[in-house]
Amino acid sequence: MYEASNTQVSEAHSSQSMQQILELQRQSLYQEAFPCAEVRIDRLARLLQILRENKFDLCEAMSDDFGHRSIQQSRITDIGASIEPIKHAIKHVKAWMKNESRKTIFPLGLMGARARVEYQPLGIVGCISPWNFPTQLIFGPLAGILAAGNRVMIKPSEFTPVTSNLIEQLLAENFAQEEIAVIQGGAETGAAFSRLPFDHLLFTGAKSVATHILTAAAENLVPVTLELGGKSPLIVGSDAEVNTAAACAMLGKIMNAGQLCLAPDYALVAEDKLNEFVVKAQQNLQMMYQDLLNNPDYSSIINQRHYQRLTDLVNDAREKGAEIIEFNPANEDFSNQPHYRFLPTLILNPTNDMLVMQEEIFGPILPVKSYQKFEEVIACIHQLPRPLGLYYFGHNKTEIDQVLKRTVSGGVTINDVLMHAAQDDLPFGGVGASGMGAYHGFDGFKNFSHAKAIYFQSKSVYNFVAKQMRPPYKKS
Ligand code: NAD
Repeated sequence: MYEASNTQVSEAHSSQSMQQILELQRQSLYQEAFPCAEVRIDRLARLLQILRENKFDLCEAMSDDFGHRSIQQSRITDIGASIEPIKHAIKHVKAWMKNESRKTIFPLGLMGARARVEYQPLGIVGCISPWNFPTQLIFGPLAGILAAGNRVMIKPSEFTPVTSNLIEQLLAENFAQEEIAVIQGGAETGAAFSRLPFDHLLFTGAKSVATHILTAAAENLVPVTLELGGKSPLIVGSDAEVNTAAACAMLGKIMNAGQLCLAPDYALVAEDKLNEFVVKAQQNLQMMYQDLLNNPDYSSIINQRHYQRLTDLVNDAREKGAEIIEFNPANEDFSNQPHYRFLPTLILNPTNDMLVMQEEIFGPILPVKSYQKFEEVIACIHQLPRPLGLYYFGHNKTEIDQVLKRTVSGGVTINDVLMHAAQDDLPFGGVGASGMGAYHGFDGFKNFSHAKAIYFQSKSVYNFVAKQMRPPYKKS
């Protein structure tokens, strides 16, 4: 995983002013302990309206922050991907809020006792978000947080200041600070923010920062959801359609220029398919791009530091003997560009000592490793920390079974990339080093709710059973 980012912006909020906002939200929460479905739907509808009315401005803002970011891509990955979970929450929140009847132990139910679970808002949720999807990773979580009836304080990334400022302004115009508050600032502000006594803290970002988040949250026993990244493998199985696998791998690598927590990080390809995979990968890139330097459909790397980090990864692999294939269809000169576009790059047969096989790449670089026996695939995945996503291409039932049963990852997509995360009805989250906790859809509602256990005693149980539990004890 790459290291935590160094902030360039001033630390806008003092710890004291954050405490005051938290207190304001808490007071308001006491007045409205359990918002009804209509109140929750109204809040969600206001989010939808913000997105629909400001989608072009938001896409422009994200492009400004990245130097250049494809507007069409932003409409899919940030606007559409925010609207859908909010619509889903509006449609289902009433059903999600319903109490769940549960069984009592025998024979209490027969004697009239009842048990149920009621989902209660947790209270105030803190939400720290990263720069790579600066709109989606605020509005997506808000769908679950607001559907569950919570108040929320958001700390957006300092590396997308244009988008973060616009989102702060739009939320302030449409929500009272008691409902949603935005706290801007860099790592120092983030550190103070993560020490606040929230009722829950959602952090999306780097593993290196997550350790600080856990330590800070522990001070107040704040429960956390950590949405991290990692090295998500893409496996080309023995009977895979190689062109499909290569096309999907390249899509995962060029979308947001590979700055995607779920991007396939490296490929494991059956040895007899390696050459075909490399050829098809280049053909698929060629179909998408005739040039790259000024192509509006290709996004930039967020900043110089990350551009240099990616350059260093490729140089390290080159120096250690890997074959490097850069995709530069129009032979353009990338040395003096105004922004940070990085060439899509394949690294063939990397070894474990190369940095590119140790760190999360988070850019348009794909190491491609071949294997002879499928057992090597399982072994390779086990050598690395548990990934966020895993992609298998092929139809071999034994291989699919091996992948599903013998590896542990946040989620899996078979015969495509990313798609498990796009399903409103599947939990999204990591496991081990790729995170803890999950949200999206009903799982998000539950993650941001307290499942309160409630037992109703019946008179007959009380009279005939409960009394027998009190001394003086008799034989019966
Ligand atoms: P980052 O961890 O550097 O920053 C994320 C947020 O944390 C920012 O708002 C930042 O200001 C804040 N922060 C930084 N230092 C902090 C500290 N000491 N205490 C508290 N907050 C602090 O991550 P990034 O570079 O913005 O994002 C990239 C990472 O996020 C990648 O690892 C990627 O895989 C991961 N990611 C995960 C998901 C997911 O849903 N699982 C989605 C997107 C990105």
